[in-house]
Amino acid sequence: MEDAPLVGVLALQGDFAEHEAALAAAGVRTRRIRAAADLGGLDGIVLPGGESTTMLKLLDVEELWRPLGDALRSGVPVFATCAGMILIADRVENPNQRSYGLLPITVVRNGYGRQYHSGTFALVSTALPAGTTGTFIRAPRITSVGAGCEVLARRGDDPVLVRRGPVLAACFHPELATGLHPVVAMFVEAVRAYVRRSAAARA
Ligand code: GLN
Repeated sequence: MEDAPLVGVLALQGDFAEHEAALAAAGVRTRRIRAAADLGGLDGIVLPGGESTTMLKLLDVEELWRPLGDALRSGVPVFATCAGMILIADRVENPNQRSYGLLPITVVRNGYGRQYHSGTFALVSTALPAGTTGTFIRAPRITSVGAGCEVLARRGDDPVLVRRGPVLAACFHPELATGLHPVVAMFVEAVRAYVRRSAAARA
Protein backbone atom coordinates (compact mmCIF):
# COMPACT_ATOMS: atom_id res chain seq x y z
CA MET A 1 0.00 0.00 0.00
CA GLU A 2 1.16 3.54 -0.75
CA ASP A 3 2.14 5.74 2.18
CA ALA A 4 -0.40 8.38 3.14
CA PRO A 5 0.39 11.83 1.63
CA LEU A 6 2.81 13.99 3.61
CA VAL A 7 1.80 17.58 4.42
CA GLY A 8 4.25 20.07 5.91
CA VAL A 9 2.82 22.43 8.54
CA LEU A 10 4.71 25.65 9.24
CA ALA A 11 5.36 25.31 12.97
CA LEU A 12 7.12 28.48 14.08
CA GLN A 13 4.15 29.96 15.94
CA GLY A 14 0.35 29.79 16.02
CA ASP A 15 -2.15 26.94 15.81
CA PHE A 16 -0.03 24.40 13.95
CA ALA A 17 -0.92 21.63 16.43
CA GLU A 18 -4.63 22.02 15.59
CA HIS A 19 -3.82 21.74 11.88
CA GLU A 20 -1.76 18.61 12.54
CA ALA A 21 -4.65 17.03 14.44
CA ALA A 22 -7.19 17.93 11.73
CA LEU A 23 -4.94 16.52 8.99
CA ALA A 24 -4.17 13.35 10.94
CA ALA A 25 -7.90 12.82 11.45
CA ALA A 26 -8.32 13.17 7.66
CA GLY A 27 -5.73 10.41 7.11
CA VAL A 28 -2.64 12.32 5.99
CA ARG A 29 0.82 12.36 7.58
CA THR A 30 2.27 15.67 8.76
CA ARG A 31 5.73 17.09 9.27
CA ARG A 32 6.58 20.29 11.14
CA ILE A 33 8.36 22.88 9.02
CA ARG A 34 10.94 24.64 11.17
CA ALA A 35 13.98 24.67 8.88
CA ALA A 36 14.69 24.58 5.14
CA ALA A 37 15.58 20.88 5.43
CA ASP A 38 11.96 20.13 6.36
CA LEU A 39 10.67 21.26 2.95
CA GLY A 40 11.75 18.29 0.84
CA GLY A 41 9.29 15.72 -0.50
CA LEU A 42 6.08 17.38 0.69
CA ASP A 43 2.71 16.74 -0.99
CA GLY A 44 1.16 19.88 0.51
CA ILE A 45 1.93 22.84 2.77
CA VAL A 46 -0.17 24.42 5.52
CA LEU A 47 0.39 27.94 6.85
CA PRO A 48 -1.49 28.15 10.16
CA GLY A 49 -3.17 30.99 12.01
CA GLY A 50 -1.36 32.98 14.66
CA GLU A 51 0.37 36.35 14.44
CA SER A 52 1.67 37.14 10.98
CA THR A 53 4.21 39.73 12.18
CA THR A 54 5.73 37.22 14.62
CA MET A 55 5.81 34.60 11.86
CA LEU A 56 7.64 37.04 9.56
CA LYS A 57 10.27 37.65 12.24
CA LEU A 58 10.73 33.93 12.90
CA LEU A 59 10.94 33.15 9.16
CA ASP A 60 13.93 35.50 9.03
CA VAL A 61 15.49 34.11 12.21
CA GLU A 62 15.27 30.56 10.82
CA GLU A 63 16.38 31.69 7.33
CA LEU A 64 13.17 30.21 5.95
CA TRP A 65 11.73 33.16 4.02
CA ARG A 66 13.25 32.24 0.67
CA PRO A 67 13.16 28.44 0.82
CA LEU A 68 9.55 28.46 2.04
CA GLY A 69 8.65 30.90 -0.77
CA ASP A 70 10.19 28.55 -3.35
CA ALA A 71 8.25 25.61 -1.90
CA LEU A 72 4.98 27.60 -1.87
CA ARG A 73 5.45 28.44 -5.55
CA SER A 74 6.39 24.87 -6.57
CA GLY A 75 2.83 23.82 -7.44
CA VAL A 76 2.06 21.69 -4.36
CA PRO A 77 -1.33 22.36 -2.78
CA VAL A 78 -1.11 25.14 -0.19
CA PHE A 79 -3.67 25.81 2.52
CA ALA A 80 -3.37 29.04 4.49
CA THR A 81 -5.60 30.12 7.36
CA CYS A 82 -5.87 33.60 8.82
CA ALA A 83 -2.30 34.76 9.61
CA GLY A 84 -1.16 32.24 6.99
CA MET A 85 -3.42 33.93 4.46
CA ILE A 86 -1.87 37.29 5.37
CA LEU A 87 1.57 35.82 4.61
CA ILE A 88 0.60 34.90 1.03
CA ALA A 89 -1.57 37.90 0.07
CA ASP A 90 -0.49 40.37 -2.61
CA ARG A 91 -1.08 43.35 -0.39
CA VAL A 92 -1.42 43.71 3.39
CA GLU A 93 -2.87 46.75 5.17
CA ASN A 94 -3.11 47.82 8.84
CA PRO A 95 -0.17 47.97 8.78
CA ASN A 96 1.42 47.25 5.45
CA GLN A 97 3.90 44.37 5.78
CA ARG A 98 5.91 42.01 3.63
CA SER A 99 4.11 39.07 2.04
CA TYR A 100 4.70 36.41 -0.60
CA GLY A 101 2.15 37.75 -3.10
CA LEU A 102 0.89 34.28 -4.04
CA LEU A 103 -2.78 35.28 -4.14
CA PRO A 104 -4.11 38.44 -5.85
CA ILE A 105 -5.95 39.70 -2.78
CA THR A 106 -5.70 42.72 -0.51
CA VAL A 107 -6.22 41.95 3.18
CA VAL A 108 -6.72 44.26 6.14
CA ARG A 109 -5.31 42.73 9.31
CA ASN A 110 -7.81 42.46 12.17
CA GLY A 111 -10.38 43.81 9.70
CA TYR A 112 -13.38 42.50 11.67
CA GLY A 113 -12.50 44.46 14.80
CA ARG A 114 -11.02 43.27 18.02
CA GLN A 115 -11.09 39.98 19.89
CA TYR A 116 -14.71 40.48 21.03
CA HIS A 117 -15.84 40.52 17.41
CA SER A 118 -14.43 37.05 16.95
CA GLY A 119 -16.83 34.13 16.74
CA THR A 120 -18.46 31.49 14.55
CA PHE A 121 -20.42 32.72 11.54
CA ALA A 122 -22.48 31.20 8.74
CA LEU A 123 -20.72 30.89 5.40
CA VAL A 124 -22.50 31.59 2.12
CA SER A 125 -21.18 29.19 -0.47
CA THR A 126 -22.15 26.92 -3.30
CA ALA A 127 -18.84 25.04 -2.94
CA LEU A 128 -19.55 23.90 0.65
CA PRO A 129 -22.43 21.96 2.20
CA ALA A 130 -25.36 24.09 3.41
CA GLY A 131 -24.96 25.13 7.04
CA THR A 132 -21.14 25.21 7.00
CA THR A 133 -19.77 27.73 9.50
CA GLY A 134 -16.39 29.36 10.04
CA THR A 135 -14.68 30.45 13.25
CA PHE A 136 -13.07 33.89 12.94
CA ILE A 137 -10.39 35.00 15.43
CA ARG A 138 -9.06 38.54 14.96
CA ALA A 139 -9.44 37.67 11.33
CA PRO A 140 -8.11 39.49 8.31
CA ARG A 141 -10.72 40.98 5.99
CA ILE A 142 -10.32 40.57 2.22
CA THR A 143 -11.04 43.94 0.59
CA SER A 144 -10.20 43.12 -3.01
CA VAL A 145 -9.87 40.00 -5.14
CA GLY A 146 -7.95 40.10 -8.42
CA ALA A 147 -8.34 38.23 -11.67
CA GLY A 148 -8.02 34.48 -11.64
CA CYS A 149 -8.86 34.16 -7.95
CA GLU A 150 -12.07 32.24 -7.18
CA VAL A 151 -14.25 33.22 -4.23
CA LEU A 152 -15.51 29.94 -2.73
CA ALA A 153 -17.31 31.33 0.32
CA ARG A 154 -18.47 34.62 1.80
CA ARG A 155 -19.39 35.94 5.24
CA GLY A 156 -22.17 38.36 4.38
CA ASP A 157 -20.79 40.10 1.28
CA ASP A 158 -17.12 39.60 2.14
CA PRO A 159 -15.03 36.91 0.44
CA VAL A 160 -13.59 34.64 3.17
CA LEU A 161 -12.47 31.54 1.26
CA VAL A 162 -10.46 32.05 -1.93
CA ARG A 163 -8.49 29.87 -4.29
CA ARG A 164 -6.18 30.31 -7.21
CA GLY A 165 -4.82 27.12 -8.73
CA PRO A 166 -3.27 25.02 -5.95
CA VAL A 167 -3.43 27.81 -3.35
CA LEU A 168 -6.44 27.85 -0.98
CA ALA A 169 -6.82 30.45 1.77
CA ALA A 170 -9.39 31.11 4.49
CA CYS A 171 -9.96 34.09 6.82
CA PHE A 172 -11.39 31.61 9.34
CA HIS A 173 -10.17 28.45 11.09
CA PRO A 174 -11.62 25.17 9.74
CA GLU A 175 -8.91 23.28 11.66
CA LEU A 176 -10.64 24.22 14.92
CA ALA A 177 -13.93 22.51 14.02
CA THR A 178 -14.96 19.35 15.80
CA GLY A 179 -15.12 16.67 13.13
CA LEU A 180 -13.86 17.03 9.59
CA HIS A 181 -14.59 20.57 8.32
CA PRO A 182 -15.49 20.63 4.59
CA VAL A 183 -12.63 23.06 3.90
CA VAL A 184 -10.06 20.69 5.44
CA ALA A 185 -11.61 17.92 3.35
CA MET A 186 -11.30 20.13 0.23
CA PHE A 187 -7.59 20.68 0.88
CA VAL A 188 -6.92 17.00 1.62
CA GLU A 189 -8.68 16.04 -1.62
CA ALA A 190 -6.41 18.49 -3.52
CA VAL A 191 -3.38 16.88 -1.85
CA ARG A 192 -4.54 13.37 -2.82
CA ALA A 193 -5.14 14.52 -6.42
CA TYR A 194 -1.64 16.04 -6.50
CA VAL A 195 -0.14 12.75 -5.29
CA ARG A 196 -2.06 10.83 -7.98
CA ARG A 197 -0.90 13.25 -10.72
CA SER A 198 2.73 13.04 -9.53
CA ALA A 199 2.59 9.22 -9.49
CA ALA A 200 1.06 9.17 -13.01
CA ALA A 201 3.78 11.53 -14.27
CA ARG A 202 6.48 9.20 -12.89
CA ALA A 203 4.91 6.04 -14.34
N1 GLN B 1 -4.59 38.98 13.74
C1 GLN B 1 -3.61 38.05 13.25
C2 GLN B 1 -2.60 38.74 12.32
O1 GLN B 1 -2.80 39.86 11.99
C3 GLN B 1 -4.25 36.89 12.57
C4 GLN B 1 -5.17 36.16 13.51
C5 GLN B 1 -5.25 34.69 13.32
O2 GLN B 1 -4.42 34.06 12.62
N2 GLN B 1 -6.21 34.07 13.97
O3 GLN B 1 -1.62 38.18 11.98
